[in-house]
Amino acid sequence: QQWQRFRLPDEDSQIRLGRYLGEALRWQGHIWLEGDLGAGKTTLTRGILRGAGHDGAVKSPTYTLLEPYDVNGQRIHHFDLYRLGDPEELAFMGARELFEEGSLNIIEWPSMGEGELPTPDLVVTLTLDLPGRIADVAAHSVSGEQALVRLRA
Ligand code: ADP
Ligand code: MG
Repeated sequence: QQWQRFRLPDEDSQIRLGRYLGEALRWQGHIWLEGDLGAGKTTLTRGILRGAGHDGAVKSPTYTLLEPYDVNGQRIHHFDLYRLGDPEELAFMGARELFEEGSLNIIEWPSMGEGELPTPDLVVTLTLDLPGRIADVAAHSVSGEQALVRLRA
């Protein structure tokens, strides 16, 4: 498996990596964000959305499970599955239609949705490296591998 480690000493570098991740994936596909509460998953998502051109707030969809964005015609779906009771609830939410071609899906706590999620292109594992964070970015598809090549450049 191809992967790359990034050291993120502060919130700004976390936001910047988000922007690079979105660009590298051409704003399409599936990104899984792994890591404990406070690891920086929502901050990374904020970077992705800012990079796409979203200027407004990015709130954590902790209770709603999903926050959809339309950024200049680009569909971006931010999931936080921490409070998902059962993966099957994703089907009731119509998640499969959201995972459509051309959209970008960012998923916090993907383990909670196991079996109902498409294969990720990139899996980002965040850990604390206080005061900063470490992000390990692993490719799980051809498009993910291409994204990693762009990220390294
Ligand atoms: P999560 O969504 O994983 O629970 P958040 O994105 O909400 O985590 O971030 C939790 C806290 O960590 C926030 O206060 C955020 O500013 C901070 N943070 C995020 N990334 C970094 C970083 N690279 N260095 C220092 N602080 C960070
Ligand atoms: Mg979060």
